[in-house]
Order: sequence, then structure tokens, then C-alpha cells
Amino acid sequence: MGKTVIKNGQLIDGNGGDVQQGAIVVTEDERIIYVGPESGYKISGEETVIDAEGGTILPGLIDAHVHMMMEFSPVSQRLETPFSFMYYQAEKYLENTLKAGITSVRDALGADLGVKKAIEDGFITGPRLQLSINALTITGGHGDGYTVSGNVIDLLPSNYPGMPDGKCDGVEEVRKKTREMLRAGAEVIKVHATGGVLSATDHPEFTQFSLDELKAIVEEGRFRKGVKVMAHAQGSEGIKNAVKAGIHSIEHGIFLDDEAIELMLENGTYLVPTLLAPVAVLETAEETGMPASAVEKSKEVIEQHKASFTKAYKAGVKIAMGTDAGVMKHGTNLRELGLMVDGGMTPMDSIIASTKTAAECMGWDDKVGTIQQGKLADIVVVKGNPLEDIYSLADNATIQVVVKNGKIEKNTLSDVAVIG
Ligand SMILES: [Zn+2]
Repeated sequence: MGKTVIKNGQLIDGNGGDVQQGAIVVTEDERIIYVGPESGYKISGEETVIDAEGGTILPGLIDAHVHMMMEFSPVSQRLETPFSFMYYQAEKYLENTLKAGITSVRDALGADLGVKKAIEDGFITGPRLQLSINALTITGGHGDGYTVSGNVIDLLPSNYPGMPDGKCDGVEEVRKKTREMLRAGAEVIKVHATGGVLSATDHPEFTQFSLDELKAIVEEGRFRKGVKVMAHAQGSEGIKNAVKAGIHSIEHGIFLDDEAIELMLENGTYLVPTLLAPVAVLETAEETGMPASAVEKSKEVIEQHKASFTKAYKAGVKIAMGTDAGVMKHGTNLRELGLMVDGGMTPMDSIIASTKTAAECMGWDDKVGTIQQGKLADIVVVKGNPLEDIYSLADNATIQVVVKNGKIEKNTLSDVAVIG
């Protein structure tokens, strides 16, 4: 791949310091080899030069909660879609995500090891994937596709090679299920600790799994060199159970009370808010054939969700950006930053949540999340200054250059030149 120089932009390196004017970033193969003033690096003439044209250079953005194998569609359509077609759809979703400036994602259920390998081996393009395989869920809980008709309509197929079914009850079963997910290649364990918006037979405030069950899951992860657990947790009791059990990140966190926030601060638990999820459910209800129950539940929780986010942010809870993409269209992920800013976050903090903190939440902060010498070359160039207009990031035309692992994956700037 050789060397690439990105110049003539302002730099936001993800560490939260001042915006650096006139800094350049140099990459060689898959790594960043220089960040600093232009005068500090001697151009040899072999480099590919990207002129940022006064735009902003950012670390590759990270979405800590996506579902790469799906985009919500009406049940009738899902029933008519052949099983293997989802892999070809996912190829498009992965590409759309990368082109939107997202260079790493944590898949919160649905993607298997083959999808990750296809990206790593260069068969398809997409963000770097961290896999959970499938989510652990109780019988009748969020993730159990049983319907009162007797038909089982799961959001995604499961129980095929590489994708164990997630249903389990009781300490022994959850332990075994955790081991099955790890065997299938899970790098993080996903558990549904409460009900949810999209599940037919429950409610966001329903508590799912006992404290003992959650503790067993956390322990199994710890046995494997500290594999972390992420919990879909919306109701306050389920959130508190999850935090007490030692779960690493609370996904959604709709009903956060003061006690839950205290516990999260004490335990260093991350919040992955996914503010975009209920917003998207309401916006696309008709087009995607969202069940009426999901629409009702979204309406019910949307204000509460925002209030919880604001409270957690003000209290100093660690916040990692996540969207639940798949519930909404892939590639629209960066709308989340605007929603976080609407919830009281500063634009700079929304960028840190989407870079440095998201990398920390995934345990990948040694290799991605900030623009620093030695880290993997995941870099994005955007038009203008996102600190002045955070909403501009939601427009994919703003995302002009995407570099992942040192490879230029997108470039809409005109003058790319190999000089010399
Ligand atoms: Zn999700």
C-alpha cells in the first residue's frame, strides 16, 4: 500500500484536545507513522497525497451497536427471502457503513465468523467487526420469536452452523449457551437483560434473567481472557442487575434512575445509548411494516430515553456511540451524534464517544479510536467542521475520505496525486 499523506485539513485526533490546524497525518501500510506539523515530516516523493481541502481529519468512527445481517423489513417480505440472500444483502450494508465513515463496529447479534473472515481476507469491504454471534435470551423474552399464532418469527434466522440459537434459562443453561457463543467465535457476549421495543411478547421494563444467571455469563466471559458482556437493558431493574453482575456495557439504557447511574459510575460501566433506534422505528414504521406494538412502545419511551441519556452524560457515565443500525438503514449511523448533542452533549464529546470511548468500550483502544503514531490507519476526512455543524455528519456526502487499515476505501476529493 505504501505511504499516504493527508494534508491541508484541521485535525481532531479523538483525544479531546484542541483542534490542530496545519497538522498532517502520514500512514505507511496499515499504520499511522506520523501526526504533527507539516514541517516535521519530509516528503520523499513516493507518497499518495490527499488534499483535505480545508476539511476535518478525524479518527475512523466506531459504532458499538449494529446488526450487520439485517435491515428491518415487513414479515411477509422476510418470509419470501431465501436464507442465503441475507449474506449478499449484508455485503451492501457493510459497504454502506464503511462509506459513511464507520471503520469499526460491534455486531450486537446476527453476524457470524464467516462474515468477519470475508472482510479480513478482502473478499468484501466493510468495517472491522467485533462479533457477539447471537444474543442470550430467556424463553418468552426479547429475542424469542414465538408468536401467539404458534409460528416462530425471528428477526433473523438462527440455529444454523456458526449461529447457535440464543434461548436459555437457568444458571446451567446460560453457562452452556455462553460457551456455545464463544465456541462460535464470539468476541463479546450479548445478553438481553430486559424486554424491548421490537419483541412482541414483552415490554422494555420487564426484567429478564436473574442476577445469578447474569453473574454466570459474566464469569464465563472472564474465564476467556476477559471477554466482556454487553447487555440490552432498558428497564431500571434489569439495568441494575446487569451492572451488579459485572456487565461491561448497558445497551439502550432507557429507564436509568439515580441508583442505576450511581452503580454505573462505581463499576465503570459504559452506556451505549442508541438514541436513533426508537426515533427510526417511528419514522419508518409504515415503510418497514413495524408491528403496531413496537410503534406504541417507541412512542412511550422516546422522551424517557433522551432524559436518561442527558442525566447519565451530566453525571459522567462513560458513553460509547451506538445506533442499533439494522433497525434503521445501514450508513445512517452518524445521525446519532446529532441526537446526542440534542440531548445536551457537546459536539466534541459526541466525537469522542464515537471514537476513543467506543474503542475503549470494545477493548480496542490499543489499535483504533484516536489518530496516533503506531495505531492502525483508520482515518476519515469530512467536509467543513463538524464541531460547528454536527448534523452535517449524517449526510454521507460530507464524508469525503475513508481510510481503513491504511487502505483508501472512499475518496470523493478531486486532487489525489502520487507525486514524484
Ligand atoms: Zn440491537
